[in-house]
Amino acid sequence: MKLYDKIINDTLEVLEASPLVEDSYQYDETNVWKDAGNSEFIMQRDAAFEIGGGGEPSVNYTLVTTSGIVSEDEIYVYGEDIGDISGNSAFARIVILETEDLGEESDQEKAFQAIRNLEFVRYHVFPEGYMVRVSARSNQEQIRFSKNAIRKGISFARVGNLYIKKYKEVPGVKKVRVIFITDRNLVEKLLPNADKVDNITKTLTHILDGLPTDCGHCSMKPVCDEVDGMRELHLGKH
Ligand code: SF4
Repeated sequence: MKLYDKIINDTLEVLEASPLVEDSYQYDETNVWKDAGNSEFIMQRDAAFEIGGGGEPSVNYTLVTTSGIVSEDEIYVYGEDIGDISGNSAFARIVILETEDLGEESDQEKAFQAIRNLEFVRYHVFPEGYMVRVSARSNQEQIRFSKNAIRKGISFARVGNLYIKKYKEVPGVKKVRVIFITDRNLVEKLLPNADKVDNITKTLTHILDGLPTDCGHCSMKPVCDEVDGMRELHLGKH
């Protein structure tokens, strides 16, 4: 699976060029933030603050690769951690998954199903005191923290451990990198990538729907021109 590799490299380049020094944490299964099991509603009066809303930029996307880019389970934090934030701030959560070969050359359906399973995890992690509101169309994610969670010492490392634990329950997932960003500048730079990820997923859907294989008359051509491996995925079978 190399379809997302260019976006992964672009994302990592933006992060590496940032003057911010990231905090990084190895996955620690003894320090996983509690999963509430279900989406939890945190009322305004119980809320400490929110991030990714109120006009602040927010972006969220998930990338899959088999190229060996992610060799450890780890969490990266750029900008202030939860305990240091006092009011609304920008927010990005990016997940890069190293998986076993999804067999996309030989079995598109299997590859797409695997991506769907991974997408499912994205919306089914419920850290306690951490209310996620997603806008799937615009790829935004807004988080409301409860006062209680702040008191108990919630941190991106602990929430990241929960995400990693959940992703590692999906068969085929080898390594997971979760990146949290609260720096406005960085979030803004990464915003366009979410649309590119969406375009890849949409093109995969069209291919599975039996899109004709005439590139000259295909509305997906701009995506296939840009994304390495997409054309092979569609036409390689014929
Ligand atoms: S490979 Fe050609 S026909 Fe297939 S989706 Fe891409 S542009 Fe369209």
